[in-house]
Amino acid sequence: MEEKRMIVENRGQQQSIRYVIDTDRCCGCKKCIRRCMENVWQWDEEKKYAYPKYPDECVLCYQCEMDCLNNVIDIQVISALQVDPLEYSAGLMNKQNGQEG
Ligand code: SF4
Ligand code: SF4
Repeated sequence: MEEKRMIVENRGQQQSIRYVIDTDRCCGCKKCIRRCMENVWQWDEEKKYAYPKYPDECVLCYQCEMDCLNNVIDIQVISALQVDPLEYSAGLMNKQNGQEG
């Protein structure tokens, strides 16, 4: 049987990436959802697989891809600028303080 693949693209100013997700292989462990500090991943309760719902938030840390033991997730970089670490930690602090941005 041919594997089903879901393709999600993010074409932002900072980076453009493509997630290729073998949804058939997703076992539902939800590691990707727990691991992603940017809350990119969501669980689709109806279809029973995880998918990147907010790809624009991705900071390309590759944790989701590395943690998925079923090799569901393949992140392909179309183009990327280096994330500014100071800006990134400021964003995280805002998040902890309950602010957006
Ligand atoms: S880590 Fe992989 S197998 Fe687990 S929920 Fe995420 S995509 Fe599915
Ligand atoms: S690469 Fe990092 S930020 Fe992007 S979706 Fe995966 S865990 Fe989240």
